[in-house]
Amino acid sequence: MEEEIDLYEILSISKGASKAEIKKAYHKAALSHHPDKVAESERAEAEVRFKAASQAYEILYDDEKRHLYDTHGMAAFDPSRGGGMGEGPDINDIFAQMFSGMGFEGGMPGMGGMPGMGGMPGGRRQPRKGQNVEREYEVTLEELYKGKTTRFTNSKQIVCDKCKGSGGKEGAKSHQCSQCNGRGQKAVLRQVGPGLVTQETVPCGTCQGTGEIIPEKNRCKKCKGKKVVDGKNVVELYIPRGARQGDRIVIANEADQKPDQEPGDVIFVIEEASHDTFDRAGADLKADLNITLSEALTGFNRVVLTHLDGRGIQLNVKQPEGKVLRPGQVLKVPGEGMPMKRSDAKGDLYLVVEIEFPEDGWLKDDAAIKRVRDVLPKPEPEDDKPEDIEEVEIEWDVDVEEFGAGSGDPRAGGEWEDDDDEEAGGPQCATQ
Ligand SMILES: [Zn+2]
Ligand SMILES: [Zn+2]
Repeated sequence: MEEEIDLYEILSISKGASKAEIKKAYHKAALSHHPDKVAESERAEAEVRFKAASQAYEILYDDEKRHLYDTHGMAAFDPSRGGGMGEGPDINDIFAQMFSGMGFEGGMPGMGGMPGMGGMPGGRRQPRKGQNVEREYEVTLEELYKGKTTRFTNSKQIVCDKCKGSGGKEGAKSHQCSQCNGRGQKAVLRQVGPGLVTQETVPCGTCQGTGEIIPEKNRCKKCKGKKVVDGKNVVELYIPRGARQGDRIVIANEADQKPDQEPGDVIFVIEEASHDTFDRAGADLKADLNITLSEALTGFNRVVLTHLDGRGIQLNVKQPEGKVLRPGQVLKVPGEGMPMKRSDAKGDLYLVVEIEFPEDGWLKDDAAIKRVRDVLPKPEPEDDKPEDIEEVEIEWDVDVEEFGAGSGDPRAGGEWEDDDDEEAGGPQCATQ
């Protein structure tokens, strides 16, 4: 009975540990005891250790609280004692509180469930609202452009309609759970190190946290006393036009039901599927404008791409008043991006010029070459030629990543490619 909660031992640190050491120890403990990271069977225990580590950290990391703890022990943090203002700690008080309403898991026979000690301040029942359920939902860019309403079957626990969530037959009496004295939760003592005990409040496993037990013969036949049954319903999911990656669509109160509890929400997290034609950023769209060399030089009037709503987008570039289009050049079509939520406005459409050059050998003979030369601008006359001239061999279609490769020089091809990204395709085309 001399054992007291030792916050330093919970975190496996010395009494003189620095704040950095405390923080590090807490992170380590929190990671290894996180209830989400352990098997179901170890969850209750991991939860206790996780909470104990959090509590130890909360106190030890705060200079003022640490001083209180060092001088008064855990009694300094008992709200009924005014937060450490009073006299020194009374070990018996601490243990009386720790044992109130608990079973015998701590191995302290005779002290379980001290009569009259139940309902300690701060003792809580189940949370007022149940847990939310999060699901990923993949949507195409077309669907996000137009908006989408869909129905899906929602599987969840529903309150048993036969017993109305009581778990018993009509008129069946439940009695108080003897394991938790009707509190629905109990304090458990845990040995967390040699000679070290910590205490936590966990839901009572015997009564599933409800505080009451229905004798087996009086249990509802439909739910077998569990108060809930597996059920499903059809729910409508509305995705507003313009919704984007990561948006959360909340369908209120459609998660598991429990008696006397508001069900949690089902939350859909939008996962935007990648698109063959369009890239999206915010409300703007970007697409390649694929044209031929002839179109780049002489203009065109045609549908260049199909928009997300199925419309053909037509561009009319007239010559001679229009401009020559060059590889990598960017055009903007205002108002042809994604719709914006709760508004009629739309983002813009960016078109990146990609020029399809003719196939190798497209000029069949000297006459054809001459015709092309005649219409294209003539090269500047070369005025000051060097005296020494050498004609060199060429390797075709070389990957720019080979430039400086393996040299460790930050200017090597692979290194700066990242900055220019896809737009690097432009200048490359021009040299082919
Ligand atoms: Zn039932
Ligand atoms: Zn119980």
